[in-house]
Amino acid sequence: MADLCTMSSTRAYSAASATSPLVPTTIERRPPGPHDVVVDIAFCGVCHSDLHAVRDEWGGTRFPIVPGHEITGTIAAIGTAVTQWQVGQQVGVGCMVNSCQTCEACLEHEEQFCESGMTATYNSIDKFGDGSVTKGGYSGQVVVNERFLLRIPEGMPLDRTAPLLCAGITTYSPLHRHGVKAGDKVAIVGLGGLGHMGVKIAKAMGAHVTVISHSANKREDAQLLGADDFLLSAEEGAFKRNAKRFDFILDTVSAPHDYNAYLGLLRRGGTMVLVGMPEASPLHAGALVHRRRQLAGSLIGGIRETQEMLDFCARHNVLSDIELIAIGEINTAYDRMLKSDVRYRFVIDIQTLG
Ligand code: NAP
Ligand code: ZN
Repeated sequence: MADLCTMSSTRAYSAASATSPLVPTTIERRPPGPHDVVVDIAFCGVCHSDLHAVRDEWGGTRFPIVPGHEITGTIAAIGTAVTQWQVGQQVGVGCMVNSCQTCEACLEHEEQFCESGMTATYNSIDKFGDGSVTKGGYSGQVVVNERFLLRIPEGMPLDRTAPLLCAGITTYSPLHRHGVKAGDKVAIVGLGGLGHMGVKIAKAMGAHVTVISHSANKREDAQLLGADDFLLSAEEGAFKRNAKRFDFILDTVSAPHDYNAYLGLLRRGGTMVLVGMPEASPLHAGALVHRRRQLAGSLIGGIRETQEMLDFCARHNVLSDIELIAIGEINTAYDRMLKSDVRYRFVIDIQTLG
């Protein structure tokens, strides 16, 4: 077991400001407390939220930032009071590393809505730890409260499983919570990291799945990923021809777009859930009022639900389609992600940190 008293250094990639590239650095990891687990990171997915945060598009980024919240790896050390995890076990870490664990939301297994504020894997004050700013998975190691670790089901490869820790749970949670079932007509808007997981998970739930994309060249891929139909949003008359068609729409788009147009694709009483988080986009009451449509949001999922999602994906052979990259390629990967040119999630091989 590692020395539990001293800080340890690990290599990482960080950005110094909203206009700086990610560059190599060395960071300190706090010593694990009794309930902490140290994970040697093998792979880390690249989420569009990493890019929003690095470029400070939501405000509030604490620089220098080390992003990354789709982590898989192996337990390197456990705190003295940890009983349910063993050194050498393969595990995942998603968007959270701690929370108060006592408020109503935490007790209901929705730690993402912790009333004291969950400790995000990066860019959070580690208020239940050492008070430092958390640093994410573009690094060699991470220290996590034992309750925030996920078990990787037998046989799931660590590289293609990493994106499930954010993209997987973020799409599984609203599909599951809103009761999507066999035969439902579901549209997934945006075929990126979240979107491609949404297609696979909705198909595994038995839904009839349509991809709505602004990229004409993704038609064939949508089919290969399992989608039943494809709509090109830019095509003349697409919204009119498909009005009132869907029971449920999951909107994963990262850039501002017209929510009102997409709401028009819902049947009477249908629901659209936003998981994509672009800057403000206008909403007209009429788009909801007519036909009693519902618009909702969803934020990742709790830890229990994340484990449920991993087990669901294992049962249904659902994995992410990835482009494995060396960490030195990260800035190019961000540029490509901004052009919607990801097939369909970049995953960093953390060994390339050296
Ligand atoms: P991504 O891989 O970049 O995918 C986003 C997709 O949005 C693109 O592939 C593209 O799909 C579509 N898109 C991009 N620009 C567009 C534009 N100008 N007009 C129309 N469509 C456009 O990103 P991601 O990692 O899936 O993340 C998507 C969003 O979800 C981000 O805003 C991210 O911050 C957010 N997110 C939210 C949560 C949550 O808990 N709610 C969790 C993780 C991420 P097409 O090419 O098919 O059109
Ligand atoms: Zn994410």
